[in-house]
Amino acid sequence: MNSDRVLVVGAGPVGLVVALHLAQHDIPVTVLEAESALPETLRASTFHPPTLDMLASTGVLDDFLALGLKAPTLQYRERAGCIAEFDFGRIADVTAHPYRLQCEQFKLNRLLYQRLATLPGAEVCFSSEVTGVEEDGSSVTAVVGHGGEARHFRGRYLVGADGARSNVRKALDIPFDGFTWPERFLVVSTPFRFDEKFAGLAPVSYFADPVEWFFLLRVPGLWRVMFPTRPEESDADVLSDASVERRLQSVLPTGTPYPLEHRTLYPVHQRVAARYRQGRAFLAGDAAHINNPLGGMGMNGGIHDGYNLAERLVRVWHGKAPDAELDGYERQRRPIALEYANVHSTRNKLNLEARDRDRQEQFRRTMRETASDPKRAYDYLLQVSMIASLRQAARL
Ligand SMILES: Cc1cc2nc3c(=O)[nH]c(=O)nc-3n(C[C@H](O)[C@H](O)[C@H](O)COP(=O)(O)OP(=O)(O)OC[C@H]3O[C@@H](n4cnc5c(N)ncnc54)[C@H](O)[C@@H]3O)c2cc1C
Repeated sequence: MNSDRVLVVGAGPVGLVVALHLAQHDIPVTVLEAESALPETLRASTFHPPTLDMLASTGVLDDFLALGLKAPTLQYRERAGCIAEFDFGRIADVTAHPYRLQCEQFKLNRLLYQRLATLPGAEVCFSSEVTGVEEDGSSVTAVVGHGGEARHFRGRYLVGADGARSNVRKALDIPFDGFTWPERFLVVSTPFRFDEKFAGLAPVSYFADPVEWFFLLRVPGLWRVMFPTRPEESDADVLSDASVERRLQSVLPTGTPYPLEHRTLYPVHQRVAARYRQGRAFLAGDAAHINNPLGGMGMNGGIHDGYNLAERLVRVWHGKAPDAELDGYERQRRPIALEYANVHSTRNKLNLEARDRDRQEQFRRTMRETASDPKRAYDYLLQVSMIASLRQAARL
């Protein structure tokens, strides 16, 4: 194998976006994926407008749009009804996709992978868990596997897009500072038609509640419902039929059991890597930052990292920019994780769960006033769609 290539660790959305962009710009790329096939676990399902704008360059966007559900509006609600609604149509002057696309992330991964497989110079190696990273002055090596069985892959650069538990980050000894929330989040999916029961329900609806907030996200054929859980509840209790049913009945009492398709319980963190670049190696996506899912900023922010880094690598690889160009990646993207995704996702969580009466009132009043003032609604939509984060990054 030619070692003058870029190694991408992880075939999640971020690794695949990076690999595809590089391959489309005539850069040889090898993706190393630990699993034996593309993982199809149910994870993120919201794609923001600028993420869709970026994905236009992949050549798979039309197919992806056809698989998803366009959500033109977003609502904040309480059990008594709608607090405020925002229409992405207001920002149609700055995006070609004025809506959120609701679609499971593994469906995008499949399309990206199929496209990548058609390009010369690109390869994806499954069952290839990276366990170490070594660097000399002129190349970087990914160690795959353990002990005497280990294989070595050499490249000019390496992108660690290997998720929250990133071995690349650990091998580079980069701290992952932050904290883990005491509660885990439960996501359940049901074909039950909440939209037929709640008048005017938007496909993305956050329900504030001092006892148990939740949010409803629609994907084709299903509604996903996310709840916080109490720290003292065991995994088995939270995932039991009785407890899932209790939570769903608290959203809408039906008197009959809800049909269920999936249930997932996962810990929630706010962490950002201390460095995004170390020599010839870079971190992107969940390997670099993780935050709670309220606002859908994790995967979207990761894809934004991916494009920022891949575009820089293209310029440097083809001699259009010096190596220092690559330092701009951390300079632009790390503050966004720290000061934008972290701050907004934390604020979203605290607003939804607020028990303090004044904070509840203030949140509801602010949302109503923002939605009814065209200028404030426009700015708010730029913020929740993450267009504002990209503008902020461009200024750094
Ligand atoms: C249960 C769950 C639910 C979620 N729900 C939401 C949500 O509702 N909204 C939201 O915005 N975000 C959600 N997220 C987060 C979102 O899924 C991530 O932000 C997104 O997947 C990040 O993409 P990534 O490519 O950086 O990492 P990943 O998607 O984690 O991909 C990493 C890839 O690297 C591979 N890999 C791992 N280690 C190695 C290794 N050592 N060597 C080689 N390959 C390796 C993995 O198998 C995987 O394919 C959720 C996450 C989880 C776990």
